[in-house]
This record gives sequence, C-alpha cells and structure tokens, in this order.
Amino acid sequence: LEQEFLKLRDLPPETTDGHRVCLMGNVEFAEEIPTLKGHGGEGVGLYRTEMLYMNRRGLPDEEEQYLAYAAIAEKMAPLPVTIRTLDVGGDKLATDLHLEDEMNPAMGLRAIRLSLRKPEVFKTQLRAILRAGARGKVRIFFPMISGVEEVRTAKAILEEAKRELSAEGIPFDEAMEVGIMIEVPSAVVIADILALEVDFFSVGTNDLIQYSLAIDRTNEHLAHLYQPLHPAVLRSLRMVVEAAHAAGIRACMCGEMAGEARYLPILLGLGFDELSMTGVSIPRVKKVLRRAARADAELLVAKALTFSSAAEVEAYLSSEISARF
Ligand code: PEP
Ligand code: MG
Repeated sequence: LEQEFLKLRDLPPETTDGHRVCLMGNVEFAEEIPTLKGHGGEGVGLYRTEMLYMNRRGLPDEEEQYLAYAAIAEKMAPLPVTIRTLDVGGDKLATDLHLEDEMNPAMGLRAIRLSLRKPEVFKTQLRAILRAGARGKVRIFFPMISGVEEVRTAKAILEEAKRELSAEGIPFDEAMEVGIMIEVPSAVVIADILALEVDFFSVGTNDLIQYSLAIDRTNEHLAHLYQPLHPAVLRSLRMVVEAAHAAGIRACMCGEMAGEARYLPILLGLGFDELSMTGVSIPRVKKVLRRAARADAELLVAKALTFSSAAEVEAYLSSEISARF
C-alpha cells in the first residue's frame, strides 16, 4: 500500500476527464511539512495558529510568530501556505487571552470575534503573517465569520498593519490573498455577499455541520446525528461553491469531510477547487479522484441533492461508489 501511495505522490490530482482539484494539507507545526510533501500535498490549505498561543504564560510576540510562520512558508515554498488567524474558544482550549467562562462557548466570544475584541493582539498576528509572506507564498484567512462587518473590519486592520510595515520599511507581501472560513450557517446564506469581499472561501465542515444541525461536535451521544451527508449540509455546500464561482473566487474545503475519500465524488461534483486534509489522507483521496470523471460526479451530486435524508444519500452514494468511483 505504501508503495502504491509513493507512486501516486508524483501523479497529478486530476480526473479521467482532465479536471484538477488541488489537494493540500492541514498542519499545525513546520515539522509536518516533510510528511505532507511526501504524500504529494500541493501546499498547506489550513495552518492552525492556535498552538502558538496555548499551554503557555503570556502571548507570542510578533517576532516569535513571524519566525514560526516564515519557517512553514519557506519549507513549503513555492507552494502556498494558508494561515488562519487565531481560532480559540469553543472546543479549543483557552489561552492567556483571559476568556471568561461562558454558558455556550461554541457560540461565544471566540475566533474572529475575540480577535476583533483585542485589535492590538490581532494586529500583532497580522503583521507577523504579512511579514512571513515575504519568505514564501502565504495566504491569510479568518475563522468563524458570521457577517460582512467582521470581514470588513478584519480587512481594515490588515490594511493598517500593512501601512505600519511600509512606514517602518519592513518587507511583507503587499498583495497577500485574503479568505474566510465558511463555517457558520449565516455565512452560507450570505455567501454571495461575502464572496465580493475576499479571494477565496474555505469551508470548515467540522463547525458548519455542528452549527447547521445544532449538534455539538464533541458530544459522543450525538455522533449519529453528526451527518456530513444531511441534505441541509449538501445544499449549504452547493450554495457556497455557486456563490464563490459566480464571484470568480475559489471554493476550498478544510474540514474533516475533505479528507474522507468516500466523499470525494460529492465534493468533486459540487465543484470544489481545493481540498485540504491531514497529509496522510491525500493519497487515498487522490486515488479516488484519479479514477473519477468529473461529469459522472456532477450527475451523482445532482441526484444526491434530490434525496430527503442523510441515510438515503448514504445508500445512494454507497451503490454509486461500488459501481462508478
Ligand atoms: C472546521 O471547523 O471544519 C475547521 C477546519 O476548523 P476547526 O476544526 O479548527 O474548527
Ligand atoms: Mg472551525
């Protein structure tokens, strides 16, 4: 099996009818880059920055963050590294940002909400990310966006960080691509509005499923209700891809769903441009991708969207996978 995966590493992530889907990695540490490359990853689709802030006293300063981000950017160059700004709160451990106990942490002061509440802490991170962009191909994106004001405010602070760096004569990437996570149902519903503000979307299915179905992603008693193939989820994914493409921006996915080879025909048929997953999942997903025809996948999705429950979609998908994918 490993042998087969090694061979796959250098083959293009392309369907039998010549359609490419970029397969990238989710990483937390620069040390993971060799494994990601070894599995054929074409970049980092999600770099989670939480680790830098957790299990410590105080907050990482600009220089410490810059060194961490630049290390990843350099190791991956010329391929892109997509850096997500701090996404603490919810099921992620608290940090020295002094989060108070909240009744509903998943719906609390977390992710971009926390960053916008602490603009100086946020700007320090933005400066470090912008500077890392001078050392490799870096893209930036914001987690848990629920409305357009959050995107606009975050972008305004990013512009402020750029002006500061320019004035100080510090090198950075002036033209860095900016994206947002789509992981809150309101962002799905206004995806057409949000698409006008950014260069790419990245769907976080872990949270999007949690919030769409009101199923705590960490509650084992509800695991059976956590359904990636729920018609509400499939319709949401379709809306997001359509809104992205109508605006001429890329539709990416970095939630766990992207790394499940059995969902590949669905994600291909929906039209996702990039899928980001743990590095070791890439060969399995690529194998399914290389055997699939995009035209078949589009038909599969059209049919899948006619079913009324996850179980029906699941049954249909299983029969199609054995027949055609
Ligand atoms: C997601 O929500 O799908 C995601 C990729 O982000 P995280 O798992 O870090 O919340
Ligand atoms: Mg998330």
